[in-house]
Amino acid sequence: MLTAQPTASHFVDGRYHEDATGAAIAVTYPHTGAVIARLHTATPAVIELALASAARAQVEWAALRPVERGRILRRAADLIRDRGAELARLETLDTGKPIQETEVADWPSGADALEYFAGLAPTVTGETIPLGGDFAYTLREPLGVCVGIGAWNYPSQIACWKAAPALAMGNAMVFKPSEVTPLGALKLAEILHQAGLPAGLFNVVQGGGAVGGQLTRDPRVAKVSLTGSVPTGARVYAAAAEGMKHVTMELGGKSPLIVFDDANLEDAVGAAMLGNFYSSGQVCSNGTRVFVQRGIKARFLARLAERTALIRAGDPLDRETQFGPLVSPAQHAKVMDYIRIAQAEGARLVCGGAAGREGANFVQPTVFAEVTDTMTLAREEVFGPVMAVLDFDTEDEVIARANATQFGLAAGVFTADLARGHRVIGRLQAGTCWINAYNLTPVEMPFGGVKASGLGRENSRAAIEHYSQLKAVYVGMGPVAAPY
Ligand code: NDP
Repeated sequence: MLTAQPTASHFVDGRYHEDATGAAIAVTYPHTGAVIARLHTATPAVIELALASAARAQVEWAALRPVERGRILRRAADLIRDRGAELARLETLDTGKPIQETEVADWPSGADALEYFAGLAPTVTGETIPLGGDFAYTLREPLGVCVGIGAWNYPSQIACWKAAPALAMGNAMVFKPSEVTPLGALKLAEILHQAGLPAGLFNVVQGGGAVGGQLTRDPRVAKVSLTGSVPTGARVYAAAAEGMKHVTMELGGKSPLIVFDDANLEDAVGAAMLGNFYSSGQVCSNGTRVFVQRGIKARFLARLAERTALIRAGDPLDRETQFGPLVSPAQHAKVMDYIRIAQAEGARLVCGGAAGREGANFVQPTVFAEVTDTMTLAREEVFGPVMAVLDFDTEDEVIARANATQFGLAAGVFTADLARGHRVIGRLQAGTCWINAYNLTPVEMPFGGVKASGLGRENSRAAIEHYSQLKAVYVGMGPVAAPY
């Protein structure tokens, strides 16, 4: 029988911590629906312990040299890589994603973030501003206690992407994973402490929106970084505003992937598949509106259907499996509903469209063609393996249609004409863009959205600004010229 029971539900003040009076959380393996761990929601006492230890520990942590903080994060990155196989298996049990994905994408990307911000921390400096005798200088200071709240699609990567810049800049963090996937963040806490992180600096508390809400409202918290849906983002942003807290909002999308008729067909088809079927479509930056220029449309759809038919769905722990189940019965029901709506509204089903028979929560990789801009499938985020293909004729037309959405997370363009690639990307309203590539998110590159898809950026140097604040210091070098 599969089990993934952690030592305890929470990780607080440097150790695993249990409080069995909290409401029960049953963690299931999405492939079978079997319960693999039983946890408890954080009680107010657990939340208090986490916040108090974070506030206490942050002061000494911020006083360390950045290179010393970085050394610990770097060690944690190495430990993650050493334990890669074990961590990938846990991520697969928690999320249902194929082991061939979790081995290369999830924890490895988290380790990259820890390594990157470990190296970046000592390079963050201020500036001096000459003022004709007097001068001013600036310091980048930590914010204090940061709260991280995660979604269920990349639970360990999300925890690392938030913890790494926060800790590198001298903050403490209290992290609440999604109740659906609570296991990876506990491992991150364990590994960070094994690497030498002092107690209290990275705490994990379990629970749903209510726990996230309590953390967000606490006056000791200086910043909230959320990865989640747009409606949750609006609620958390509003709650944070009450306390004038900093926020990073990594929210949903309905991103355009535009394929011009001069594009390399195999590359464009491959990117559209990656951008809709990887992680069974549960990726926020997916290019779920695939705009294909009319001249290439028939060939594009034919190759897409051929290659989609070859996708190997099955047991996520089998190394040959390329495509796993959705994370939960609720998500499965939601995605199947969107498929029904798309058919009812007149989209043409090219392939897929049914529940998969490989296990619980499977949905076949699905492609709809002749999708129009007003259809639900073109407007709402599905968060499942459902690709919408839309036709277009001209550059101006496709740009206007691509931008006609509340979202602005990502966008992609495939064309052999690089001048056109840059020109089109320049006019698209999206925070993260690709030309002749899709969904690659290296830690060196900023990641985040515009419009309703959020604000702030993760990864890259840009994240430093979102986990620190600027202090300006004026230094008077002469007498004070007071007029009285
Ligand atoms: P949700 O918005 O439902 O939840 C996100 C997190 O917020 C969960 O931990 C949730 O707790 C918590 N939460 C819910 N309500 C509140 C509240 N009032 N206060 C504080 N915290 C709260 O998103 P999902 O988990 O369903 O994830 C899917 C969504 O995430 C998609 O829309 C997707 O696009 C987006 N996403 C965005 C990414 C990005 O970087 N832009 C990356 C990945 C996903 P719980 O669920 O445990 O109740």
